[in-house]
Amino acid sequence: MKKLETLAVHAGREPDPVTGAVRGPIHLSTTFERAADGGYPQGYLYSRSGNPNRAALERAVAAIESGSEAVAFASGSAATLAAFTLATPGGRIVCSADCYHGTAKQLREILPRFGTSAEFVDTTDLAAVERALEPGTSMLWVETPSNPLLRVSDLAALAVLAHARGALLGCDNTFASPVLQRPFELGADLVMHSTTKFLGGHSDVLGGVVVVREPGAVAGRLREFQVAGGGVPSPFDCWLLLRSLPTLPLRVRAQSAGALAVARFLEADRRVERVHYPGLEHHPGHRLAARQMHGGFGAVVSFQVPGGTAEALGVAARAQLFTRATSLGGVESLIEHRASMEGPLTQTPANLIRLSAGLEDPADLIEDLDRALGR
Ligand code: PLP
Repeated sequence: MKKLETLAVHAGREPDPVTGAVRGPIHLSTTFERAADGGYPQGYLYSRSGNPNRAALERAVAAIESGSEAVAFASGSAATLAAFTLATPGGRIVCSADCYHGTAKQLREILPRFGTSAEFVDTTDLAAVERALEPGTSMLWVETPSNPLLRVSDLAALAVLAHARGALLGCDNTFASPVLQRPFELGADLVMHSTTKFLGGHSDVLGGVVVVREPGAVAGRLREFQVAGGGVPSPFDCWLLLRSLPTLPLRVRAQSAGALAVARFLEADRRVERVHYPGLEHHPGHRLAARQMHGGFGAVVSFQVPGGTAEALGVAARAQLFTRATSLGGVESLIEHRASMEGPLTQTPANLIRLSAGLEDPADLIEDLDRALGR
């Protein structure tokens, strides 16, 4: 088995067999010529059902996540929804209470229309998860570290609980990336990424992917939903994502190291009320994260400042190097007041700021935060 760094460079990136181009072309054609006998000799028919750039991206992501098959979508949200359709009709999904607000919205508002119910539970509390996994539960969906509170859930223990109920364990691995966390090795059945974040890494492509551990019916249903549902990524987006993967291990490790330095600075600063980062020893999930994650704790740090919305917005407003924008995982550092981004149903504390460390020198990021925190 090749190492991650090698797979990130080579998987899905063979030279173009027609021209020898080391970096293959973008196949914009929506349709593909049939053979005289009506067949499809190259395996492609119509670009919603399959496209060479998408196929290459899917091979690459399956390889770096050590899954059997990856199914790519036009956004992380489309990928999450695709995974949730595995529980339709009439299923039940148990989901981490702290999760991306768009995921919660799908479970609260969209899935019930398809007869599927959802329960939110603190997945860091195994006894609470066991209680929530009532008979009839089809899926346990876990975000770890979670968005935006960076809570850490025990994937290996959750896999045992889910499988005892005959439920699938799905993990949104967006915050950790395949570089830092390997959910399939811990028993997950499905891994999802918003590829908009670390996999893309340059804040210039929207995408999502669901990876399955085993070949079979689950992969088949996801593929059917992708092709018939039609929420596929464009060939250019797939090409951009494949362009980004070779640097993924380097970027993620460097960004995580920067985030740890930033988190340590914030933790030691009296102008900060609380820091949420699993790399800090005081974080309730630190020991678990140190066991479950490898080579870093991620590039996202959340922290709370004394006061409320106005004070938190003020800190973000004074930052100069951090760009005030939502999202994460890109090469440039971002900062945002999270609650006002999530909307009226938010559970996020009003004084919470979320940042994503980019590839700038951590000392410059710390200097910027020092200024932003004010007197
Ligand atoms: N999952 C997590 C953890 C996220 O942070 C996000 C977006 O921020 C998503 C899913 C949704 O991804 P997208 O914005 O690509 O639809």
